[in-house]
Amino acid sequence: MKAIIQDLDAQGLKAVAARFGQPAFRAKQLHEGLLQGKNISAVTTLPAAFKEALLGEFEDCAVRVERVFEGSDGTKKYLFALADGNIVEGVLMKYSYGNTQCVSTQVGCRMGCKFCASTLGGLVRNLTAGEILSQILVVNALEGGTKSARAVTNVVLMGSGEPFDNYANVVAFLKNLCSPEGLNISPRNISLSTCGLVDKMYAFAEEGIPLNLTVSLHATTDAERARTMPVANKWSIAEILGACDNYFKRTGRRFIFEYSLIEGENCDGRHAGELVELLKGRPCHVNLIRLNEVKERTLKATDSKSAYRFLGLLQKGGLSATLRRQIGSDIGGACGQLRAGYLGNRSEGR
Ligand code: SAH
Repeated sequence: MKAIIQDLDAQGLKAVAARFGQPAFRAKQLHEGLLQGKNISAVTTLPAAFKEALLGEFEDCAVRVERVFEGSDGTKKYLFALADGNIVEGVLMKYSYGNTQCVSTQVGCRMGCKFCASTLGGLVRNLTAGEILSQILVVNALEGGTKSARAVTNVVLMGSGEPFDNYANVVAFLKNLCSPEGLNISPRNISLSTCGLVDKMYAFAEEGIPLNLTVSLHATTDAERARTMPVANKWSIAEILGACDNYFKRTGRRFIFEYSLIEGENCDGRHAGELVELLKGRPCHVNLIRLNEVKERTLKATDSKSAYRFLGLLQKGGLSATLRRQIGSDIGGACGQLRAGYLGNRSEGR
């Protein structure tokens, strides 16, 4: 694979233009074109010889939309093809306050969570910063957005992959995404979800990107967490909470816990009590999700009534908590489901 031009920021593009003997305004034109979600070859303002030179070094198209599935609630799921033929997925969710795009950070994942479809085939490779950014650039363009009037207003890093297992590329992507010369999205409108890589959580607190840090908790004791999340063998819940407290101290941002309700596993009265004990008094919010059942997995979702009961217990205990409304479930809304289904069908020749 050639290099990905969207990996570069304004400064990097300027350096490339200079290297090819082009004046600085050509770098600007190139940047404008890329921010419009265009391939290099489609940036009409540039001279053909410059584009040809660029194409000797860079992929013309970092991310191509392979398929779009539209749910009955307006949610759109995208399958993106990368230049090397790998597939990742993304989602665009429409809310009253704007559109939130969920992006992938890796092809596959090596974290091994028992409920998750993204990790079924392990990690294939990391995405580059520009491949992550391009998912947003192409969707923004498809939805009729521009650089200044963005159709994508919010971004969540909750597609396939563990963002902190691809730390350098994810940080470069975020810096580019928030840059005033780029899409200029505020960190307040970005959420990053991690399964709890504690060392990276501390490092990230120093990056100067005060986004909404979200941690996938899904259990109240280390032993129970290890049953569904192998990462619990490496980092304890106490260490995770310490890293969250530090994040708040360094950024002033309250943090969020994801808690997927799995029948018979993590959502009876005892769990609610333990969760309250763990989180009481902390500047945090709990996002409950009813498990999206994945056909390759045996874990079951809890019913809606029990989910509301669990929510009530958390709120009675003084926690800020909500039950996430399920969106896009008719189109394989859960992490990695769409890609897994697509790859499955492809190999079965359908
Ligand atoms: N690797 C990161 C981000 C990706 S997943 C992380 O672990 O946080 C985004 C969220 O969806 C995580 O909280 C993850 O645990 C959760 N998730 C994955 N598969 C799920 C499923 N089948 N049902 C409900 N939530 C799921």
